[in-house]
Amino acid sequence: MKIVCIGRNYTEHIAELQNEKPTDPVIFIKPDSAVLKNQHDFYIPDFSDDVHYEVEVLVKISKVGKHIDPKFAPKYYKEIGLGIDFTARDLQSKLKEKGLPWEKAKGFDDAAVVGKWIPKEKLGDVDNLNFRLERNGEVVQNANTSLMLWKIDELISYISTYFTLKTGDIIFTGTPAGVGKVYENDQLTGFLEEDEMFSVLVK
Ligand code: MG
Repeated sequence: MKIVCIGRNYTEHIAELQNEKPTDPVIFIKPDSAVLKNQHDFYIPDFSDDVHYEVEVLVKISKVGKHIDPKFAPKYYKEIGLGIDFTARDLQSKLKEKGLPWEKAKGFDDAAVVGKWIPKEKLGDVDNLNFRLERNGEVVQNANTSLMLWKIDELISYISTYFTLKTGDIIFTGTPAGVGKVYENDQLTGFLEEDEMFSVLVK
């Protein structure tokens, strides 16, 4: 199983990190060892003083595919989820400055929170889903999938141009504005519409 992540998919988040708006989706991969299963605690790693939360809508691939046309993309996923793309922002900034890959900052152990899954038929239009992240009960990120620069079906098509998508692969579709640093004892709780999808304690 691989995790394919999209960067810079929401205009306001691009602005808050002072990144340029990309002409194509930004893609990176997290290894399967990065998955923090639901309900486990997240330990801030020793190598970072600035780990950020990034709440993201997730898509679980249900069928092998390559060069998938956007109009057929809905046949390749049945479930939608929510997770966190934990990012060692200090490390990432150093790597970006040098033009080096981000993997250490994004793919470390437990850097991918994967919450529960909901059948897409239950959700209706996947391009119009509200989601939010609460930290200690306060809303810190709040968005709708309609704000994505590249929508889910376009992302599946684009990714499959480069990587064969396999059953069980997970796509992290990018984070909206509002990312921030995590602190010990933070409780991070994600909601898709009104469903609680995960709740993680930071240690
Ligand atoms: Mg992200």
